[in-house]
Amino acid sequence: MPNTASDVLIVGAGPTGLTLACTLAQRGARVRIVDAASGPASGSRGKGLQPRTLELFDDLGIVDDTLAHGVFNLPMRYYDETGQSKDDRLQRSPRPDAPFIHSLITPQWRVEETLRHKLGQLGVRVEFGIELTGISQDADGVTAQLSGPAPMSIRIDWLVGCDGGKSSVRQLTGIAFLGETVETYRMLVGDVRVEGIDRDHWHIWKSAEGILALCPLPSTDAFQFQASIAPGQESETSLEVFQGIVDRRTGRHEIRLREPTWMSLWRANVRMVDRYRQGRVFLAGDAAHVHSPAGGQGMNTGIQDAYNLGWKLAAVHSGIGAALLDTYQQERLPIAAGVLGLSNEIMASVVAAGTILLRKDERTLQLDLNYRDSKLTREMRPMAEGVRAGDRAPDAPGLIGPNGSCRVFDLLRGPRATILGFGTHWQPVIGSLQGHIIVSKAAAGSPGHYTDSEGHAQTAYGDSSLYVVRPDNYIGMATLEPTSNPVVDYMNTFLIRKG
Ligand SMILES: Cc1cc2nc3c(=O)[nH]c(=O)nc-3n(C[C@H](O)[C@H](O)[C@H](O)COP(=O)(O)OP(=O)(O)OC[C@H]3O[C@@H](n4cnc5c(N)ncnc54)[C@H](O)[C@@H]3O)c2cc1C
Repeated sequence: MPNTASDVLIVGAGPTGLTLACTLAQRGARVRIVDAASGPASGSRGKGLQPRTLELFDDLGIVDDTLAHGVFNLPMRYYDETGQSKDDRLQRSPRPDAPFIHSLITPQWRVEETLRHKLGQLGVRVEFGIELTGISQDADGVTAQLSGPAPMSIRIDWLVGCDGGKSSVRQLTGIAFLGETVETYRMLVGDVRVEGIDRDHWHIWKSAEGILALCPLPSTDAFQFQASIAPGQESETSLEVFQGIVDRRTGRHEIRLREPTWMSLWRANVRMVDRYRQGRVFLAGDAAHVHSPAGGQGMNTGIQDAYNLGWKLAAVHSGIGAALLDTYQQERLPIAAGVLGLSNEIMASVVAAGTILLRKDERTLQLDLNYRDSKLTREMRPMAEGVRAGDRAPDAPGLIGPNGSCRVFDLLRGPRATILGFGTHWQPVIGSLQGHIIVSKAAAGSPGHYTDSEGHAQTAYGDSSLYVVRPDNYIGMATLEPTSNPVVDYMNTFLIRKG
């Protein structure tokens, strides 16, 4: 007899599945998350968290734990073929609309550890050693076959495959994974201890044989080893092969590797699905798109898929119309296609330069991704300058509110939608909807309002619009119309209301 204890089954407890589980559990959905592996993964793999992901982690309440295990803007130390070195690092000016402007270097297993901890606080434990082996579905739900210590069949409302590039969920639902495997791009990767170099730089050697990079992994004693491997070159994942590469490509025999904890041969697969959903079954993360690590986008895109889907699944589960779920693919599929193009572009420039380049391209920060063309987006202003509906809601420091100073992200934090009205004329609309009124310094003094003491909020949002900010902190609706009807309609149609 199928067991019916949960609403959503998440298959795969990598960064995508864990983020999804947190977003659902946070909203009271009953979640089960299984992983075929016997325990947590130990490899550093995706070691770059992009600013947009950090913003979402701030919203989820785990950014401080994440930052505690990472480093921003680590300087690069480039060695040429004669062994001469030159240091370089990114120069970016602070932005009031974005608290993070660099990617954070931190091992992927740390990110997963932090997410698992958060999930545990929300009352959900990852069930390791349980593999999905079969799926059938009908109009009312999904039946999943799980193998493990005791094979079982469970019935759920929704199933989400966050089970990586080789996704069983994708295969079992017959969704094609279109693209190619580029045999000419291969890389040995691993986590090893290294003697003979400092931990204050990401060390990168250019040589006739290929690229070698050793990046210190914050909050560990290890470095991530990356070495490009030409066709026909030795590609065994052993300490001897890794050490041989270091000896030949650096010409420095005092650099010694030891105690590898993870070693792998990476092949360039550039593929994505043409749909994110088959009935009640969804795909997210690497299960839906894979590409090269150049540009550091993969894990981040998976986490952001999960952040997009989580609130929608929870909303539909709580009674919002199921059409909301159609917007998941509509919003995320073009983003995946863009990420594949961007990582191909960066990979080609790495291959042409024969070295890992500074990530100057601001597209990698993922702050400009938007859902302007989504069916969920309502831009109701005739002439909108600056931020538009569908854009990421910008941050702004310098608000003075009822409890002292704060920033816009403090108002947005948490699992619900938020209404921001710029100007006291929004009071009658917002009054019944429990939003926030932001006023200029000149209009300061109204109780319960936030004064934009430095003008950053008005620079980002203008001084007279009302915005409905979705639970994933993208602007769903923007209007100048001083009536609550369209806002109430929008909230009732798509969102779980605050309060
Ligand atoms: C060398 C390297 C460097 C990288 N650098 C970056 C970077 O800087 N930035 C970045 O964003 N990304 C980077 N990536 C990519 C990143 O590692 C992946 O995009 C990320 O792991 C995808 O997460 P996921 O949760 O979607 O899938 P995964 O992490 O692959 O997790 C899938 C999980 O599903 C489980 N599973 C599989 N099948 C089943 C089944 N049938 N039943 C139950 N469980 C199952 C697996 O055990 C696994 O735990 C890098 C990758 C590599 C290899």
